[in-house]
Amino acid sequence: MSVTANDQPAIPVATSSKPTKVHCWSCGAMRAAHFCRQCGKVQPPAPVDYFVFFGLPYKLNLDTATLGREFYSLSRHLHPDINAISSPREQEWSLQQSSQLNDAYRTLKDPIARTEYLLRLLGVRLEEQSKSATEDARRTGSSKKQVVPADLLEQVFELNMQMEEARMNKKMGEPDRSLELELRDTRKHLQAKHDGMMQELQTAWNEWDALVDCAANGGNVLEDDRLAACDRMVDVLNRRKYLQNLLRDVEEVLE
Ligand SMILES: [Zn+2]
Repeated sequence: MSVTANDQPAIPVATSSKPTKVHCWSCGAMRAAHFCRQCGKVQPPAPVDYFVFFGLPYKLNLDTATLGREFYSLSRHLHPDINAISSPREQEWSLQQSSQLNDAYRTLKDPIARTEYLLRLLGVRLEEQSKSATEDARRTGSSKKQVVPADLLEQVFELNMQMEEARMNKKMGEPDRSLELELRDTRKHLQAKHDGMMQELQTAWNEWDALVDCAANGGNVLEDDRLAACDRMVDVLNRRKYLQNLLRDVEEVLE
């Protein structure tokens, strides 16, 4: 399992917020991050994560409208075209900063990518299954990748048989209209379940964000609570991924 105490880096529960303030290399003014608000010069890129880049706490509930405004505002100052008449060194910084800005924005504005990114920062390896799924796999001796979420077990069993039958029919050129309708119905049901997972993820986000707030207010965050919050997110993401794959399979059969 990925969420273990051993491979955890120091938890970014505490707000790191704005990157460290240093003097502008050009005019000596105290600069804002990324570019100087006095002389407008691009500053050397700092090796920071995407949350720090935007001066954000490590929270998952995020106002994407504000993030978007911040992105466009920074783009205007960091864009290589704007810094085209600068020295080669500044042009290089501008390129690097812009590229970091684009990556950070693309990742943070998307709810799934944002969650996966935070989990990766926390040392969680997402290609693995959640703790419970891994334990189930060990117990049953099945391959980890094929662990079926418990709430889908029965349905997946039947669905696999139906899909197998539909594939056979297709091969023989003997389509079964009622089977097809059943599969379409199942697809609708699975899609609704998939969409409903955003609500589950939201609940997990709230749980995590509460820990971040607690730490930011000087509270003591228990390691167990932290791991539990992570595991909940991993679990939702894994089940969502499983459903996505399943939907793709059904789609293929129905084509
Ligand atoms: Zn300056």
